[in-house]
Amino acid sequence: MTGKRCWEVKVVRLIREGRPEEALALLAEKYGVRPPKLRVGTVKGRRGAVGCYAPKEETIYLSNAEMMFKPYVLLHEFYHHLRSLQGKFSRSEKHAEKFAREFLEFHGS
Ligand SMILES: [Zn+2]
Repeated sequence: MTGKRCWEVKVVRLIREGRPEEALALLAEKYGVRPPKLRVGTVKGRRGAVGCYAPKEETIYLSNAEMMFKPYVLLHEFYHHLRSLQGKFSRSEKHAEKFAREFLEFHGS
């Protein structure tokens, strides 16, 4: 695979292969931010969510280990991390969904 969008394909592949930390490190590098931490667990008040971002801890919480293999979930939560570090944290679910969906539409195969 060649072309400038190649790294994005790699991100999706790393997640599907069960290497989410490497995928997040690559995303962070490309967006010029610190990588988020990744944990399995839930956050008070958000127990129904498959994933959740805790801005103070810079940590993505996933409800169970299976979610580590879900590119959509990780990309969605990475978007919250990115916005948070850019000082624009909001519970902007629409934007996070759009970011993850478009990333996968173009690079998810
Ligand atoms: Zn969200």
